Amino acid sequence: MNASLYRVEVDCPVCRETFSTSRVRSKFCVVESRDTDFCVYYKGCNPIFYEAAVCSKCGYAALYDRFTEIGPEDAGRVYSRFAGKWNGRDFGSERSIEDALDAYKLALYCSQLRKDVTADIFTSICMRMAWLYRIKGDTEEERRFLAHALEQYMVLYDRGDTPEKMDEITLIYLMGELNRRLGNADDAVIWFSRVVSHSMAGQKPLIVRMAREQWSMVRNTIKESGQDG
Ligand SMILES: [Zn+2]
Repeated sequence: MNASLYRVEVDCPVCRETFSTSRVRSKFCVVESRDTDFCVYYKGCNPIFYEAAVCSKCGYAALYDRFTEIGPEDAGRVYSRFAGKWNGRDFGSERSIEDALDAYKLALYCSQLRKDVTADIFTSICMRMAWLYRIKGDTEEERRFLAHALEQYMVLYDRGDTPEKMDEITLIYLMGELNRRLGNADDAVIWFSRVVSHSMAGQKPLIVRMAREQWSMVRNTIKESGQDG
């Protein structure tokens, strides 16, 4: 087994059996660089590959950190959907990018079967899938998942909510950046301008700087494409 990985036993809240999954040792999680939508690149093993856990016994999949957060009704729904159909695939060993994507696809599928899944969980899954497709070089799939994430970030924002571990100004910046990456220049400009004028701008100089940089990048794109900018 890869020295940067270790195995953990997980009690499945859906089938009540135990399975094992791999995690990356934190000392091996050395950050190499970050993209402007917070995609992190690591030297060596990438922990994102292991953040979706899949029960080899029943097929239930979810983000590792929130694996047990499933109510009895949803657990029953997931259990009966896989019953008799699950092939017993074990995701517990070292994962290729395809294995990682398959694990996230299962997590996404399970999140769609459930009624208690929040936009926060859905966006976390979609962003990670977009990043994996970026690493893989599949731009079309990357954009598809960025668009899904953006749609749900808008739902959160409209409700006056934010994802876990993200403040409002960062969410606004990210919506600008996802619009920019998806080619929606006008929308990107609107969100970036909201970052700069936000009441928290003074406390978040890094986010404000990133918003200004990406905003000027959008302006250049608009100029280059000959639109009025
Ligand atoms: Zn299970």
